Amino acid sequence: MNLLNNINDFNEAKSVIPGGVNSPVRAFKSVGGNPRMIHDANEYYLIDEDGNKYIDFIQSWGPLILGHKDSDVISAVKDAINRGLGYGAPTVGETKIAKEIISTYNCIDKIRLVSSGTEATMSAIRLARAYTGKDDIIKFDGNYHGHSDSLLVSAGSGCATFGSPSSPGVPNDFSKHTLVARYNDLESVESCFKISGDVACVIVEPIAGNMGLVPGDVEFINGLRSLCDKYNALLIFDEVMSGFRASLKGALSYYNVNPDLVTFGKVIGGGLPLAAFGGVDDIMNLLSPLGGVYQAGTLSGNPIAVAAGYATIRKIKQDTSIYDRLEKLALLLTQGMAQKAQDFGFKLQVCVRGSMFGFFFSDREIKNFDDTKKVDTELFAKFHQKMLERGVYFAPSSFESGFVCAPMNERVISDVIEKSEIVFSELANEQ
Ligand SMILES: *Cc1c(COP(=O)(O)O)cnc(C)c1O
Repeated sequence: MNLLNNINDFNEAKSVIPGGVNSPVRAFKSVGGNPRMIHDANEYYLIDEDGNKYIDFIQSWGPLILGHKDSDVISAVKDAINRGLGYGAPTVGETKIAKEIISTYNCIDKIRLVSSGTEATMSAIRLARAYTGKDDIIKFDGNYHGHSDSLLVSAGSGCATFGSPSSPGVPNDFSKHTLVARYNDLESVESCFKISGDVACVIVEPIAGNMGLVPGDVEFINGLRSLCDKYNALLIFDEVMSGFRASLKGALSYYNVNPDLVTFGKVIGGGLPLAAFGGVDDIMNLLSPLGGVYQAGTLSGNPIAVAAGYATIRKIKQDTSIYDRLEKLALLLTQGMAQKAQDFGFKLQVCVRGSMFGFFFSDREIKNFDDTKKVDTELFAKFHQKMLERGVYFAPSSFESGFVCAPMNERVISDVIEKSEIVFSELANEQ
C-alpha cells in the first residue's frame, strides 16, 4: 500500500496543528502507524490522499448511518446552501427537526439545538443544577460526555469518591463537584449519593460507546431511575452516540426507563455539527429567554446542519427496518470475526446494539471501566494495522465503538471477515 502522500501530508499537518489532528483519537497514538489523510468518500468507503480505498467502520465517529454522500442528505444540504449559510434568526427547519426528535422520544416536550455533544451535556447539567438547586453530579468511570471541565474527571482512589481531573488544566475545584461511580454497579452510585447529599443529577451513557461498546444492564439503568427519584436528582441519558444509532429511540428501546433530560449529537446532524438536549417543559422552560438559565450559541441550529440532520432523520423514519438490517450486518461481522479469531486461538468478546458494534481482545466479558484495563491492546494494535493495510478501517483504539451503515451489505461484511481470517493467521504465526 503506497502511503507517500499520507506520510508527507501528515508531517505537514503536524507542523501547524498539535499532533496533526483536531481531535486526539485521529492521531493513531494507541495503534501506531501513519494516520490516513482522507481525500474523498462514498457510501461505505473512504479514499485517502494516495488513492487507497478503505471500508469505513468509523463513519465520522457515528453520524453517517446513511453512509457517505447519501443522495437525499446531499440534496437537502444543497437546497439549504442555495438559501444562504446562516442567519442568526429562527428558521422553520429548526422547528421541523425539533418535532422529529420530540415525536420519537415521548419523555421530551422541548429541545434546544447546539453545535456539539460537549455543549449539549454541559448545558443539560447546568439545567439540572438550576432545576434541583444542587451542585454535585454523578458520572461513571469510562463514560464520555465531551470535554467540558467538570466532565473530564475520573475516579480517584476507591470507587465512590469525588473524582480527580483527568486532564491538566482542569482545576481541582471544578472536579470536586463531580462524583465518579462504577458503571453497572448500583451500590457505587448509592454511596455517591450518600457521600454527597447534594446531587443534582446522574449523567450516564445508557449504552456506553466510549470504552468500547458496553451496554448498561437493565437492572442497572432501572436502578438509576429509582435512585434519582429517591434522592430528588435528575437522570440524564447521554445519547449523543446511541440516539438514532442503537435504535430509532436509542436506549429507550432497550430500557423501560424515562430519563429527565436527553442529549443528542452525531446522527441528528447527519454529518454536520449539530447536537441537542431536551426534556419536559418544567425543566426546559427554565432556559433563557423563558427562564434564567443562560445558554446560547452563535451558530446553534445552523440551517445547513439542520437540513442534513432533518433529511437523515426523515429518511430513517421512512424505513425504520434499517435498524434490523444493520443489526444483522453487525452481528454477522462480529460473530464472523470472533469465529475466525477462535480458529487461530484468539478470544474476542463481541457486542452489538443496532448499528453499533464493539469487540475486545479479552477472554472475559467487559462490564465496566476496570474490566477494560485487562483487554489486550497490543494485539488490537497489530490487528488494526493489518486490517488497515488490507483496506478495512476500524476505529484506531480498543475503546471506541464501530458502526455499520445503510450502504453496506453481506458481501462487504464477508469480505471483511475473510480479511480478518488472513490477519488472525498471520498474528498466530508471529506469536
Ligand atoms: C461524542 C460524544 C460526546 C461529545 O460530542 P462532541 O460533539 O464530540 O462534543 C458526548 N457524549 C457522548 C456519549 C459521545 O459519544
